[in-house]
Amino acid sequence: MFCPNCREEYREGFYRCGECQVDLVHTLEAAGAAAEPALAPLLETQHPDLLHELVDRLEAAEIPYAVQAGTGLSHLERPTLLDQTRPEPWRGLVWVPGACLERARPILDELRRSAQDSERARRRIHPPPSSGGEVPE
Ligand SMILES: [Zn+2]
Repeated sequence: MFCPNCREEYREGFYRCGECQVDLVHTLEAAGAAAEPALAPLLETQHPDLLHELVDRLEAAEIPYAVQAGTGLSHLERPTLLDQTRPEPWRGLVWVPGACLERARPILDELRRSAQDSERARRRIHPPPSSGGEVPE
């Protein structure tokens, strides 16, 4: 079984692509060329900085993308809730064409690694206050 979107191969018994949330097909030919331009989700985040940095890097890599962000995304996903007028927690989604996922994923991985590195560096520069009485000269 194959995902028509990211072209991942799945073992028998799987019917949906866990990454793309689309139904699997028996052969990629069955998916046809029409499935090619479909957008696949690359990132869902609650951190605007991460989303901003990611789209900067996708632009630098010349990977096309689309963004959905805001405090009312469920209205897009479940239009029957249109009478809900309270904002939700901010969410941002980044989509890329399925054919670009393989190029886009390492960019996201790299970004997450460097975000973790800078978080570690920040903790080194500002260590938690110690209870010891030692004062540097
Ligand atoms: Zn997929």
